[in-house]
Amino acid sequence: MENLVRALGMPAFRAKQIFHWVQGKGVALIRDMTNIPKNTWDILEQHTFICRPRVVAQSQSRMGDTIKFLLAYEDGVTVETVLMTYDREYSRDRNTVCVSTQAGCGMGCVFCATGISGMERNLTAGEIMAQVWAAQNYCAQNRFSKVTNIVFMGMGEPLANLPAVLKSIHLLNDPEGLNVGMRRMTVSTCGLVPQMYRLADCQLPITLAVSLHGADNALRSRLMPVNRQYPVEEVMKAADYYAEKTGRRVTFEYALFQGVNDGVQEAEQLGRLLQGRLAHVNIIPSNPVPESGMRRPDPVQVERFMGKLASFGVTAVVREEKGVDIDAACGQLRRRVEKQEK
Ligand code: SF4
Repeated sequence: MENLVRALGMPAFRAKQIFHWVQGKGVALIRDMTNIPKNTWDILEQHTFICRPRVVAQSQSRMGDTIKFLLAYEDGVTVETVLMTYDREYSRDRNTVCVSTQAGCGMGCVFCATGISGMERNLTAGEIMAQVWAAQNYCAQNRFSKVTNIVFMGMGEPLANLPAVLKSIHLLNDPEGLNVGMRRMTVSTCGLVPQMYRLADCQLPITLAVSLHGADNALRSRLMPVNRQYPVEEVMKAADYYAEKTGRRVTFEYALFQGVNDGVQEAEQLGRLLQGRLAHVNIIPSNPVPESGMRRPDPVQVERFMGKLASFGVTAVVREEKGVDIDAACGQLRRRVEKQEK
């Protein structure tokens, strides 16, 4: 931006002012930026584009604590963004936004509504950040406190769009912008091994969340085709490298699907894989995705699975997905709106 404003004959600090208006205050029109001289408005408007996606659909959980947005960019491409609020519930000052990093996804996980739709395109860093701003605006209008946490876990595989994800992490962390601490950011991956090493080498204090969903190669390959390219052993080696390089505990996500990966045998395989590792495990009783035929496990089975894991000394928590009543699984709102439009 400094290069741009200099080329337009303006002082370099103008770039910082604009950045602060857009990323620190969520202002999307040059003429609303009160310290930008009036005689530069026209030229700046001609040479800048401030991404402001349109809210196409919005759904809210019965409790009102989870809000899902379907956002459309300039070219008509749509993505989902989810805001999970906690501050009223527990008097905790925490609001988390789950952002998409790609429109669609090419990874083809069989249980995922986004995977079923296929890949459209990568999002730019600006488009990722604009999702946070859409959620932030909602918070401001509805008297929630500020966005405090960001998880890169929405539509798309974040590490398949690593340059834009890294850029957005740095910019969202910028004190002149939203100033979200990196320790409050989580990037998920289905296990793209080379990019996991690349991210580890950046040595950022962000959390890496690896979606495992199966500890055995045959099972995992059935659920996640990426496992054929990067099998479990390689994913674990890369996760260990990440922990070593960043000093941060890696999170492993394991979604439970009834009769598929929720048995005692699968729990034992997971227990053996993670035993002795400094790992944090999130067990997620999956939200149903009708197209995939996958079903949510019953609570007794979840308890049995947890008990087995505990017997291996693996600490795990059951993470209930918020907003089960609003198509909360990634890609579901978009598919529902697309079907209605057809
Ligand atoms: S689960 Fe994630 S990586 Fe897999 S298809 Fe869905 S969005 Fe892509």
